Amino acid sequence: MDNPIDLETRPDCAVISLNGVTREYVGHGGVVRALDHAAFTIVAGEWVAITGPSGSGKSTLVNLIGCLDHPTSGELKIDNVDVATMSATELDRFRADKIGFIFQQFHLIPYLSALENVMLAQYFHSMTDEAEARAALERVGLGKRAEHLPSELSGGEQQRVCIARALINNPPILLADEPTGNLDAANQTIVAELLQDLHRNGHTIVMVTHDPEMAALAQRKIALSHGKVFCHPVGGPMVTLRR
Ligand code: ADP
Ligand code: MG
Repeated sequence: MDNPIDLETRPDCAVISLNGVTREYVGHGGVVRALDHAAFTIVAGEWVAITGPSGSGKSTLVNLIGCLDHPTSGELKIDNVDVATMSATELDRFRADKIGFIFQQFHLIPYLSALENVMLAQYFHSMTDEAEARAALERVGLGKRAEHLPSELSGGEQQRVCIARALINNPPILLADEPTGNLDAANQTIVAELLQDLHRNGHTIVMVTHDPEMAALAQRKIALSHGKVFCHPVGGPMVTLRR
């Protein structure tokens, strides 16, 4: 059953934790504080929706959690490792092992087939295994479309190729920035069902969304406003971990 987690007694359950994380950008107009002392914890197996108006810092937060960017100050731990302690090479390896990315813009290579696009993700794990790439495409219902180019696939099918690509190496964390932002209702339902399936299988999902229906699928919402984070703490009434 679902039980609240007490992080005082089970700190090992924290898969993402931020402590006073600030990200400032220095531009022509001065300093923009895109994220202002963010402090929260996400536990293993949680599904969290990040919401907030345009410009509130959602992508900044997702890029930091994805180790694609560094905080200006504060501490960010992924799987209890302080990411600031890693070299660039260690961080690349760490990211590939821990995090699968699902973007709103699918970022597929146009001249590679669905299968080759998924195999390209494997390349970053220093091995390519066509059978595993095919299995990932089958998992998202695209086994029969493996040889198709992105231009021969619908938007929904392209997003499913992205999800297959994110599943390579079975990363514990899936980070999605507006995963259904470019999809029609029918494809949104397919992607929502896929994410529910992945969540049941134990993946931690952090998902930016503007869509209240998608946000409602998550167990907890983290709301951003002008770079400030508002959320229920872990162990509060909304937070559970399947075990
Ligand atoms: P959201 O994803 O919620 O729309 P962002 O995280 O993209 O918000 O942006 C938060 C704030 O930081 C905005 O004011 C935006 O203009 C600013 N910002 C984002 N990226 C940069 C950048 N590379 N350089 C300067 N300012 C940026
Ligand atoms: Mg954004």
